[in-house]
Amino acid sequence: PETRRWCFADQLGPHFLDGAQQPVLLIESRAVFARRRFHRQKAHLILSALRHRAAELGEQAEFHRVGTYGEALDRVREPLSVCAPTSWGSRDLVLRRPGVLVLGARGFVSSRGDFTAWAAGRGRQRLLMEDFYRDARRRHGVLLDGGGPVGGRWNFDEENRQPPPADGRSPAPAPWWPEEDEIDQEVRADLDRWAADGDVSFVGDDGPRLFPVTRQEALHRLRDFLDSRLGVFGPYEDAMLRDERWLAHSLLSPSLNLGLLDPLEVVNRAEERYRDSAAQGDPLPLNSVEGFVRQVMGWRDYIWHMYWHLGRDFRHRNHLAAHAGVPGWMAGLEDTAVDAACLSDVLGDLRRDGWVHHIPRLMVLGNYALQRGIDPSAMTDWFHESFVDGYEWVMVANVVGMSQHADGGVLATKPYASGGAYIDRMSDYCGGCRYDPRKRLGEDACPFTAGYWAFLDRTRERLAGNHRMRRPLQGLDRLADLPAVVQQERLRGTEPP
Ligand code: SF4
Repeated sequence: PETRRWCFADQLGPHFLDGAQQPVLLIESRAVFARRRFHRQKAHLILSALRHRAAELGEQAEFHRVGTYGEALDRVREPLSVCAPTSWGSRDLVLRRPGVLVLGARGFVSSRGDFTAWAAGRGRQRLLMEDFYRDARRRHGVLLDGGGPVGGRWNFDEENRQPPPADGRSPAPAPWWPEEDEIDQEVRADLDRWAADGDVSFVGDDGPRLFPVTRQEALHRLRDFLDSRLGVFGPYEDAMLRDERWLAHSLLSPSLNLGLLDPLEVVNRAEERYRDSAAQGDPLPLNSVEGFVRQVMGWRDYIWHMYWHLGRDFRHRNHLAAHAGVPGWMAGLEDTAVDAACLSDVLGDLRRDGWVHHIPRLMVLGNYALQRGIDPSAMTDWFHESFVDGYEWVMVANVVGMSQHADGGVLATKPYASGGAYIDRMSDYCGGCRYDPRKRLGEDACPFTAGYWAFLDRTRERLAGNHRMRRPLQGLDRLADLPAVVQQERLRGTEPP
């Protein structure tokens, strides 16, 4: 007979079971919420998804609502099996329990074995996302024509970096939104009570639930994306608009990361749409379809595998010696006005929704932290706690590696630091800002532009060996006002700009 399958709260889809009737163990541990200060809507999403799954499985699931995992596990007498959990900490937890069979991970396109074989084949070469992604497309036969990539190219990124539409309107219709039910009401009441008891505390606003908690809802969101947004996903992938925070993004990451959708099914459905549209003589733009597929089976999988490959100490890398704390105004702990229009808007969206898309994360929040020398591990925790789709495995490689360059260039060849000119080009923020993206000195000096030069000045020795940084570092020597800029930014520090 099948063993009872212990499913964590991020393993909620049918692909984590071996058969439709397999007995399931679900555990809601309150301690998880007491340990960290989550965004209110993230806590809501996780609890609601777990309780919906328990309700859906009925008698097939043993559902324990307890203080700690240990309390629940002590009550279970039968042997358990579990798909490999998603963090070093939860891996320790399952390995410590006698009688628990740990299976391979699910919920990703490439298996650990696929990744290890690919990495071994690279020898001493860098483990680049682009190469991993192409290998995965070949292995899974995704968007291929006669063995080569559809359209003759593996990568259409160049077409996917357009500034936002000039009229300030989203290229896509508004997304479909789920409706709350009585389980959501119960979750809301419980969270209110826990917070009132002082057991847990949250950041961010409570609000209508925006993300799916059941497989049905997740499939609905996927369909909605494929129907009305996939075709325009690509070009404005990196654009930011003050009044259009969803743009053409899929909003699928929380559903993928809760395990409600299997990423390979998502990729296959997108390809199917592409093939159908091509057969009807009106193909969806390939840059959009390929760009989406790249996010799901390229980036997401790569980040997952690198989390394990780089080891548990990776999160403590700090190549640029960044030791400042996450400021309270940024963390949502203080209600301080922020004048910088881009930061203020992104933090406002994050407080309201628990989500902003990848460019505000990387080029506004991450860029700010990088320039100001905020501790990468603290930033990792903050991203994990503040975003509805944030998990340890997603954030360590993304924040420590990609965003904060704390690994000295393992994941990204150069730091994602940029001045206000980038934000000005890719958004409509600067026109309404009291700072000027072209200024680095004075009352209206843009904190990103001035911060960029101060950052280069502070890290020049540590970045000196990076050939991609040679030009920007040479630029430093041409700035007659550099000492004044550095002094100005030292005084600014992490005060709200
Ligand atoms: Fe942001 Fe600088 Fe533009 Fe203001 S001027 S919105 S601070 S980039």
